[in-house]
Amino acid sequence: MILLGPPGAGKGTQAELLSRRWKLAHISTGDLLRKAVQAKTKLGLQVKRFIDGGTLVPDDVVVALIREKLPRSGGFLLDGFPRTIEQAQALGKMLDEEGRRIDRVINFSVDEGTVTQRLMGRGRSDDTLETVRMRLEVYRKETEPLIVYYQKQGKLRSVDGSGTVEAVSRAIDAGLEGTP
Ligand code: AMP
Repeated sequence: MILLGPPGAGKGTQAELLSRRWKLAHISTGDLLRKAVQAKTKLGLQVKRFIDGGTLVPDDVVVALIREKLPRSGGFLLDGFPRTIEQAQALGKMLDEEGRRIDRVINFSVDEGTVTQRLMGRGRSDDTLETVRMRLEVYRKETEPLIVYYQKQGKLRSVDGSGTVEAVSRAIDAGLEGTP
């Protein structure tokens, strides 16, 4: 399963709930990258400036990370990946080779005013107004096209992400009905 949506849409919170409930491995590229930055690994040093600036880490870097972290068997939930068409294509190819596939893509729709407010209240180091604006612009340009990409594959379920944690969780459950 993939969680898709702008920064601040609540993907991380719902990913925690969903992964526990459905026993899925939760893979957040943002968390993995931030950990690498903190640990000052080679990857961390390579990606710090992108995270700080609110731009995307190059596709080949995140695709390699996913290739390494994706569990070889069992279900998984991707939070914050893919973020570009190129990443989605690389993921599709990777899974194809293993005879696996993405079942569902949950798209969180939330207006920009709401996500900006949420991000500004979160206090993460990349949550300054300037970076938030950049991340939303990057989302619109690079990530939003994935909605149509997965819609065409019949995998997309959109939920209203502007409500409470419980309301969004219920909307996701309803969207997952009939999923194998
Ligand atoms: P997030 O925690 O998902 O908001 O990610 C924080 C930052 O990590 C983003 O602003 C990007 O710089 C980087 N990042 C996370 N996931 C990806 C991805 N799939 N592709 C490129 N950059 C990413």
